[in-house]
Amino acid sequence: MTPETKELKMTKESENPFQAMLSRFNVAAKILNLDEDTYNILKSPIKQVVVSLPILMDNGKVQVFEGYRIVHSTVMGPSKGGIRYSMDVNLDEVKALAAWMAWKCAIADIPYGGSKGGITCNPSKMSKGELERLTRAYTRSMYDIFGLDKDIPAPDMGTGPQEMAWIVDEYSRIKGEFTPGVVTGKPINLGGSLGRAEATGLGVMVSAIEAMKKLNMDPAKCTAAVQGFGNVGSITAKQLSKKGVKILAISDHTSAFYNENGFDIADAISYRDSNKGVLSGYNKGTLITNAEVLTCNVDVLAPCAMENQITAENASEIKAKLIVEGANGPTTAGADEILNSKGIIIVPDVLANGGGVTVSYFEWVQNRSGHYWSEEEVNVKAETSMIKAFNNIWNTSELHKISLRIAAYVYSIDKIAKGVKAKGNY
Ligand code: GLU
Repeated sequence: MTPETKELKMTKESENPFQAMLSRFNVAAKILNLDEDTYNILKSPIKQVVVSLPILMDNGKVQVFEGYRIVHSTVMGPSKGGIRYSMDVNLDEVKALAAWMAWKCAIADIPYGGSKGGITCNPSKMSKGELERLTRAYTRSMYDIFGLDKDIPAPDMGTGPQEMAWIVDEYSRIKGEFTPGVVTGKPINLGGSLGRAEATGLGVMVSAIEAMKKLNMDPAKCTAAVQGFGNVGSITAKQLSKKGVKILAISDHTSAFYNENGFDIADAISYRDSNKGVLSGYNKGTLITNAEVLTCNVDVLAPCAMENQITAENASEIKAKLIVEGANGPTTAGADEILNSKGIIIVPDVLANGGGVTVSYFEWVQNRSGHYWSEEEVNVKAETSMIKAFNNIWNTSELHKISLRIAAYVYSIDKIAKGVKAKGNY
């Protein structure tokens, strides 16, 4: 291998989300002195399912889509994790996302393992009928994987309550029994939980506020940039501005904007909703580049879009003191090193965005008991749980003198490793 190709390979590897997960897992395993057997058990997914889904498109032609479901771990309970529809979906991405779900559920202290699913497709270019046929075909293919006490999907990037409604219907038809708890993030009238739609963004805000308390940052005197304006980014921005944080930059995949006086987030959300779900053309700020959203001069940066946004290439230009990860895997391992050396505090994804799966758990509990909670009850319980999780990770980081990210891995892997040992007999 020539030096150039080696360099290229290294860049590729550092952008590979599963490698990014493993590199942090290895550091945590060393700190924990994890024995070799447990290390080997926890580092790889227990099940990897890849299916081909032939779908009749509206033009009369059949298109074959690739679908994935990866179960990383079921040590702590049935596996839990969303389903992503995007052209970027691939095996290594879904494997990383599944492992992150296992760590996330352990940190949130909910009785689940971790999994993730996805279909390589572009949902914005598909009709409602095509999406319904694809979602139902995926559900039929995964019927043996999914289950109330086996594996419970939820929304992720590119999916939402509508897809969850098709899944619950298709699954219930095959089973011959209405089974709302087989999937979470459903519409409210099909057993969805109040508060679920806002839960991830609410949790990102709670983690940001907790971190600000520790760092003596007054929210009312702080500014923030939020990358991504989907379910997570827009609600994070809305919740942070409710706490007095001035949101100076917002963006989505179509455009990015800066306003030195701060955005009215409710106005930006209603613009997006009346503009086919995107921010393009919004005229309440100046147009900037997506790269500038990450590097602009703010106190708090919330990457809420997707993986690999903060990399070794742009990390040294970041000016925020605090990064709160609403997205899964937005920071590469190479960027972590640079940010740590600059003293920037990162509240990692598996902690910061755990509010979503926490309320998914509440939804599952409500489905099973048939007793439904008020939105206030859901929000109070979710906030209490986020604060507890934040302090557990903060204390682990102080105890071992490690970053919050490595502390999150140490805390969750230790918990799951104890589960492996208690079960024994492998
Ligand atoms: N997709 C979300 C996540 O990455 C939610 C998962 C769930 O609710 O099961 O955390």
